[in-house]
Amino acid sequence: MSNATMHGLVYRGPRERTQIEEVAVPSPAAGQVLMKVGAVGVCGTDIHVWQGDNHQMEGPRILGHEFAGEVVALGAGVSEFRVGERVVSETASWVCGVCPYCRAGQYNVCPTRKGFGFGADGAMANYVLSRPAILHRIPDRVSMAHASMTEPGCVAYNAIFEKSRPRPADHAVVLGPGPIGLMCIAMLRIAGVGRISVIGLRRDGHRLELAKTMGADDVLVADEMDAVKAVIDAGDGFGAHLVVDAVGVSKTLDQSLDMVRPNGQITKIGWGPAPVGFSLDRLIIKAATLQGSFSHLHGTWERVLALMGTGQLNVAPLVTEFDLHDWHEGFMAMEELTIPKAVLRPNGSVA
Ligand SMILES: [Zn+2]
Ligand SMILES: [Zn+2]
Repeated sequence: MSNATMHGLVYRGPRERTQIEEVAVPSPAAGQVLMKVGAVGVCGTDIHVWQGDNHQMEGPRILGHEFAGEVVALGAGVSEFRVGERVVSETASWVCGVCPYCRAGQYNVCPTRKGFGFGADGAMANYVLSRPAILHRIPDRVSMAHASMTEPGCVAYNAIFEKSRPRPADHAVVLGPGPIGLMCIAMLRIAGVGRISVIGLRRDGHRLELAKTMGADDVLVADEMDAVKAVIDAGDGFGAHLVVDAVGVSKTLDQSLDMVRPNGQITKIGWGPAPVGFSLDRLIIKAATLQGSFSHLHGTWERVLALMGTGQLNVAPLVTEFDLHDWHEGFMAMEELTIPKAVLRPNGSVA
């Protein structure tokens, strides 16, 4: 394939400087696997990059880090996978392997990791290179488009099950009905909590409906009502056991501190560069836990794929598919909050 070309969505700069280009099909070096991309999800961070909000990002770079595909070629020394297998890839194209975190198996926080679509070429293209250590086989009944949702599923699984301790009968609140928030609702439903409230804004529109589809009991629209009071009034008056912030502006942390009950937990997935600008005394006086949650590890991926394989996790309501060449339509729909997740199909509906 050394002279073959393919189409890829190449970031050279914001907006019109991101276009489909004809680029060379990469060939797998020793230890690498070439995947024919079946489906690649558009992440909120892809939208931010395209909007010009990520100032570290340097082009040219093929975008896309949430992807599933078929193994089509193996570099020297790869024996763990065979040509023809359906796989999903984790998001770290490269980790150092020698820092204290890599050595402890916590490679998601390796300080020099290179992510697909950022530090290495991503999967919004016909083909992408990955490596066997981060590949996972897709259960038979899970489609490529659904498998490409494994990554946001892992973000949610990590936040809900690995960084939080939801118990049956708990009251949990999710701030933000974006793709991660919606996945968190699904995970909380699997956890068997007693009540799930989701807080969004009127402009979230359809995404608030989806929150109900994914398992939310109450949908609270923060610009139409006092959502914090509604959460507190919904239970015994002490607040929620678990508050999941999938937004990441200072206002939602402020609300989280009001809603969390004494000895409860706030798990923060959403982030943003703005300073917080208020006192954290409520955290102390409530003896509450403020927990950050980032990325995921190998075991998380296996579990989320298993949940999709058994049907316990159904991501179908979240997915809208587009041909790679219609990427702009998908990006616009996500920017306008019309849909939570565009999934691009670089090779059509095959694979
Ligand atoms: Zn992502
Ligand atoms: Zn490392």
